[in-house]
Amino acid sequence: MKPTGPIPEAFASADQLMIGGKNVLELADIAGDTPFFAYDIGLIRHRVARFRAAFPQVALHYAVKANPHRPLVRAIAAMVDGIDVASEGEARIALDAGMASRDISFAGPGKRERELETAIRAGITINLESEGEAERALAIGDRLAIRPRLAVRVNPDFDLKGSGMKMGGGAKPFGIDAERVPALIGRIVAAGADYSGLHIFAGSQALMVDAIVEAQVSALALAAGLSNEAQVLPPLVNLGGGFGVPYFAGDKPLDIEAIGIALAEALAARDPILADTAFAIELGRWIVAEAGVYLTRVVDRKVSHGETFLVVDGGLHHQLAASGNFGTVVRRNYPIANAARIAAPVEEEVSVVGCLCTPLDLLGNRVGLPRTEVGDVIAIFMAGAYGASASPQSFLGHPPPVELTIDGGEIL
Ligand SMILES: *Cc1c(COP(=O)(O)O)cnc(C)c1O
Repeated sequence: MKPTGPIPEAFASADQLMIGGKNVLELADIAGDTPFFAYDIGLIRHRVARFRAAFPQVALHYAVKANPHRPLVRAIAAMVDGIDVASEGEARIALDAGMASRDISFAGPGKRERELETAIRAGITINLESEGEAERALAIGDRLAIRPRLAVRVNPDFDLKGSGMKMGGGAKPFGIDAERVPALIGRIVAAGADYSGLHIFAGSQALMVDAIVEAQVSALALAAGLSNEAQVLPPLVNLGGGFGVPYFAGDKPLDIEAIGIALAEALAARDPILADTAFAIELGRWIVAEAGVYLTRVVDRKVSHGETFLVVDGGLHHQLAASGNFGTVVRRNYPIANAARIAAPVEEEVSVVGCLCTPLDLLGNRVGLPRTEVGDVIAIFMAGAYGASASPQSFLGHPPPVELTIDGGEIL
């Protein structure tokens, strides 16, 4: 039997899975069919409150690429201070969710002219990824006679240690190498743009407090150094994020309160050039991953060479990450359960496979479950981030998943 990740506490206590105050079988009726995703807004609200308590001086931004499902983004927009987007499509989702355009920032390499123009017209902040992009944005601003709101994304000279996905340090397609940033700040200020500050994102999915604190302290020092060199005060410094969540056996939830204490100390001792600067942290998965569950029904139960397979109606076309094919090197099991008997004792070892005709479609490898029959519903946890929108939905031609957003028993 292979280990599975920890079932989030909020779901582990009941025997029959409850999501947002609704029983999972009731949710299956509402969804009309399996497979489907269910997102519990109450859990998201709880996490945002936890962030607020731990980081009273820091604004919270939601990185919408983690989960762009519209009802969910609408609910989150009312709880956070900003939304970070990485395409025109995501910008549209953020605007439609009611986020003020000046609190939307648009990062990401390869922004096209049309996307830059849409952002500048809407008054969205553009996090510049290169000098070329800066010139294109300035030219569009001139042509439209609109002062563009521009921030500079720095490719930091450090990385986030222990992070699942490094996005800083060394040669990167993201941001502008730190040593060229002061000149670029000078250029955009001289050109008359509305300079909104710096964006320093070093990596993702880190579960070590010390590594995140070190990255935040380094980001603060880097922001101060670059601003001093440019002799320009940054109105906002986005310190990045990278707060990880426990997906796999042995992963422990992040102690964000400890990070908050360390960051408060670093902020208290910050360089005078940052005295009036506002600070933000941008988080995706930490806000939404735990709140989502992917539910899929057993269609077939079969034995091959002594191994039992539960074949389900879902698969990697909806929840790629659980198959181990989204940003992980070694495939490990996400938390998984029989949704009607979460707390029941393990009775058998099974492999849960999706309905796609490829050996990649493995959702649970030799996991322990209570005896599970055709028709039972399997829950795969930690599915609120990088699920439906990060999976190859048209691969093999099955229908897209239903997504239900639930807040205190009400479907949004
Ligand atoms: C992907 C991304 C995020 C969100 O990362 P999470 O690991 O989901 O928190 C935040 N900021 C930037 C710039 C990103 O590219």
